[in-house]
Amino acid sequence: MVRAGGRAAPANATSETDIADRGRNGLWEDCSAVGDVAGAHHRSGSGENVVAMQDNGRDATQDGGEDAVDVVVVGAGFAGLCLLHRLRGDGLSVRVFEAGGGVGGTWYWNRYPGARCDVPSLEYSLGFSEELQQEWEWTERYAPQAEILRYLEHVADRFDLRRDITFDSRVRSATFDEASARWQVVVDPVGGGEPVEVSARFVIMATGCLSSANTPDFAGIDSFRGETYHTGQWPHEGVDFTGKRVGVIGTGSSAVQSIPIIAAQASELVVFQRTATYTVPAHNASLDPAEVAEVKADYAGLRAANRQTVVGFGSRHPGNDISVHEVTPEERLAQFEARWERGGLAFLGAYNDLLIDPAANELIAEFVRDKIRATVHDPDVAELLCPKTVIGCKRLCVDTGYYETFNRPNVALVDVSEHPIDEITPEGIRVGDDRYELDVIVFATGFDAMTGALSKIDIVGRAGTSLRDAWSEGPRTLLGLGVAGFPNLFLVTGPGSPSVLTNMVTSIEHHTEWIADCIAHLREHDVATIEATEPAQDAWVDYVNAVANFTLYPGCNSWYLGANVPGKPRVFMPLIGFFPYAVQCEEIAADGYRGFELAPA
Ligand code: FAD
Ligand code: NAP
Repeated sequence: MVRAGGRAAPANATSETDIADRGRNGLWEDCSAVGDVAGAHHRSGSGENVVAMQDNGRDATQDGGEDAVDVVVVGAGFAGLCLLHRLRGDGLSVRVFEAGGGVGGTWYWNRYPGARCDVPSLEYSLGFSEELQQEWEWTERYAPQAEILRYLEHVADRFDLRRDITFDSRVRSATFDEASARWQVVVDPVGGGEPVEVSARFVIMATGCLSSANTPDFAGIDSFRGETYHTGQWPHEGVDFTGKRVGVIGTGSSAVQSIPIIAAQASELVVFQRTATYTVPAHNASLDPAEVAEVKADYAGLRAANRQTVVGFGSRHPGNDISVHEVTPEERLAQFEARWERGGLAFLGAYNDLLIDPAANELIAEFVRDKIRATVHDPDVAELLCPKTVIGCKRLCVDTGYYETFNRPNVALVDVSEHPIDEITPEGIRVGDDRYELDVIVFATGFDAMTGALSKIDIVGRAGTSLRDAWSEGPRTLLGLGVAGFPNLFLVTGPGSPSVLTNMVTSIEHHTEWIADCIAHLREHDVATIEATEPAQDAWVDYVNAVANFTLYPGCNSWYLGANVPGKPRVFMPLIGFFPYAVQCEEIAADGYRGFELAPA
């Protein structure tokens, strides 16, 4: 059985036959683990409102005037912080703009009850500093949002990053000026006021894959008299649900984490489910000091081993690299059970064909359905909670007491799969003839993923081409890092890179290194601009699609495909497989940035 992901397949390996051949040749032998997968124009024109750049003693103003820096980074989440630290260390002047009032990105915005990571904290953390990873103490297997935010605040303070970050500042546009080969970036202060403008040689979009909240355009949405919240824009002061009638729309990861906690507080909870979700228990617990000591004894080794995997984490518990069809039913059940008992995303690493072969997938899907039936007392509710889709083609959820919550007398499940929510009324939600009176509505309705934050910025490249137009039929990149027609623009975890199918911190650190090394190369060789070529980009897009089509991923209405946002082009956006991708990134750089055009200064 050939598995997607795994070892390097070159960008020209686009046909399914090609991919299959390379698989047979063992090029993808590391991929037990498709299983583990489961395991931004408008210038102010005045020039007056320039950012008062801080003098950090470098050549920031060399070609752009006093309002100039070497690099503008957009976003101060894991990626923005990582980039600022590395690029400043390389002697570049860097300015980070962040729409939020603090660092943290995802972990600044997503403060809903129960929010925590689903990649173990010991691995969902930064490896660039041995001191940092030795001194930080994670308390739980999966750290809660507040702890991850504290960690990122610590990173910002420890490396003195805040002095180069401007908060409450939303980048409105970035326009490439061909004459000067520089970007003009316009930034709006979030609370209102005059826009500021800055010139940069490079712009790096660290705007996040899951940072543009998606609230569906429900009829009557503004008429509701109660409180409304989106999980991805949660109020800092928290929400007290005590004694309230609450409706949650959505059953993805954010809903799965928040529903059990909201249910325990609210007088009534009504969950509106369009697609039933597969979720695996987290078995979250305090971290065992022995495990922490073992990891810290060779943290660098763990980070390196994780970079050899398809998903950027989990090297301590590798996937089981055999087909589910090679074992007896008893062995299969024991394997599924053992992984259910250990919990977490490694569940889908049980066999190597679970995300390739529909029959294999159905075996593990049915195992989960049996767990639901055994957990949920009301057989009708249980059956409604049983997903009918391919397991893993939407991101697997990791929960604490999700299915059990539907045994509570104050919790009701409403199926909106066939009859959608008709409207939001002043009193609540109407589905057909049924009216649900509510005090609070929680939109756990996800994000305009991967392209949403970028498409909100007017990014204008060569010849006045906007990124929105260039991507009107879906995003097109080379390596998920560069876009043809947009010189000196880099994306972090952009579409066409493994990004959301990995431990994103691994991917972010990898992109930080690749981009910083690239900029160092350009400076060293006196190169003015780097830009993906169209042919190389076309080949890369074909490759990403071919890998995806080799799996079961494209088969359901996931946000990976843009299917959750009405009108969004359906294109499978992430590339499956971190390790083979990293190999290709390295080879392309070593080959003088093959596929990119480098123009001399
Ligand atoms: P983000 O953290 O999203 O930061 C991007 C920042 O850019 C944001 O702060 C945003 O305000 C800012 N920004 C965007 N546009 C602009 C603009 N125009 N101007 C100025 N600023 C702008 N991944 C995992 O691997 N494991 C997990 O366990 C995990 N859990 C998650 C849980 C939740 C609730 C969510 C929503 C995502 C989770 N993810 C997880 C994915 C997570 O997004 C990444 O792991 C990671 O935090 C992304 O970091 P980032 O810096 O790339 O982007
Ligand atoms: P999501 O997975 O996209 O889930 C959104 C939910 O809202 C889905 O159930 C969706 O139904 C539903 N929905 C959307 N529009 C709807 C409509 N018009 N009517 C009814 N239902 C509607 O979003 P998310 O839960 O915020 O998670 C997004 C991603 O963030 C995750 O996949 C994960 O990568 C990350 N995340 C991770 C964690 C973690 O555990 N660490 C927690 C939260 C988020 P359909 O499925 O039918 O579209």
